[in-house]
Formats: sequence, structure tokens, C-alpha cells
Amino acid sequence: MQDEVRALLILQDRDRRLLALARDLAKLPQDEARAKAKLAGDEAAVAKAHHALLDCELRVKKIELDAETRRTTIKRLKLQQFETRKNEEFVALGHEIVRYEKDLDDFETQELEAMDEVDGFRTAQKAAEAALAHTRKLVDEDLASIATRHARMEADRLEILAEREKLLANVPESIIPLYNRLMKTKDGLAIAPLRDGKCEGCHMKLIASTVMKVQTGKEIAQCEDCGRILYVEE
Ligand SMILES: [Zn+2]
Repeated sequence: MQDEVRALLILQDRDRRLLALARDLAKLPQDEARAKAKLAGDEAAVAKAHHALLDCELRVKKIELDAETRRTTIKRLKLQQFETRKNEEFVALGHEIVRYEKDLDDFETQELEAMDEVDGFRTAQKAAEAALAHTRKLVDEDLASIATRHARMEADRLEILAEREKLLANVPESIIPLYNRLMKTKDGLAIAPLRDGKCEGCHMKLIASTVMKVQTGKEIAQCEDCGRILYVEE
């Protein structure tokens, strides 16, 4: 094999590794977003539990206010009853007091029930918060592992780039533009082996003169179909 083709093959190997690294690096933001998205469901559940608790606490406050109004009214009616000298009015006030006391009793029962519900919602909120904390721990682990992968790939990339710089010195400058163009347009494969009279890049059968040119290896031979630089495997 020609030395220059051999040098190009090594260069192509490093360039293909760089392309693979670039592809993997480009996927990392998606991996990160996917990891963070796992939090959304649990965060929504915490918010929902929090609102349910607040609603219920408001309901307790409203019942308390209603009960307090009844207590004030009962106090006023009792005072009126104490002050009246008319028997009829005394009896009528007594009926009203009974009615309000019944109301107050209902409100107090409702308040106890609602307070029980508050306890339930508080427990549910704690459970949702615990689930979120657990997920957050897992997500943080995922993000840390993504960051480690990122750092390792970046270090690999820099190492290969430095190596590539040295390899480039072994490649004749005149082939570089052709090589670069083929790398760009031929899916990262500029150099392909000749096998069974075919170009392994595009799998087309080569004409005899091209096969001969590759085999003698005196000059750079290209596939007449895809244009890739051809070589004979050793
Ligand atoms: Zn070809």
C-alpha cells in the first residue's frame, strides 16, 4: 500500500472517532433534558397536594367564622332574653337560641370533619414531597453521570485532535482537499477498500483499469462511481 494512503487511513480512523464523539456529545443535552423531565410529574404532584391542603384549611377557617357568628348571635339573644320582661318574647327568644345552637352544633361537627381532612391532605403532601426528593436524588445522579461522560468525551476529543494534528504531517498536502471533501460528502468515509473488484464504499463494480490502478498503487485511485479513494487491504 502506498504510504500516503496508509497515512490517510490512520487519519480517517481518527476523524471517524471524532465524528462519533461529536454525535455522542450532541446527544448529551437531550439526555440532560430527559433526566430533568422526570422531575416534572413529581413537582406537579407536590403542587397539587399543596393546593388541596390550602383549600381544605380555608374551608376550616370559613366554618370557624360561621360558628363564631352563631356564638355571637346566641350571646346577644341570651342577653336579650335576660333583659326582657315579656314572657312571650322570652319564649320566642328561647326558640331562636335553640335553633342557633343547633346550627352551631352542625358547624362544630363540620369543623371536626374538615380538620380530619386537613390531616389527610397534610400526610398526602408529605408523601408527595418525599417522592419528589427521591426522584430528585436519582435525577441528580443521572446528571452527574452525564457530566462525567461529557468530561471524558471532551478529554478524548482533545487527545484525538492533538494526535490528528501530528498525523496530518504524514499526509501530502495535495490530497488533503480531496480527502476533506470526501469525508464531508461521503458520510465520513473517504477511503474504501477494493474487495472482489468492488468499491466497498458504494459496492459498485469497478472497471478493470481502475482495479489495476489500485493494485499497482503508484498513484491515488478513486472509485469511478462514488469518487472514494481506493486501496488494497493487506
Ligand atoms: Zn465507490
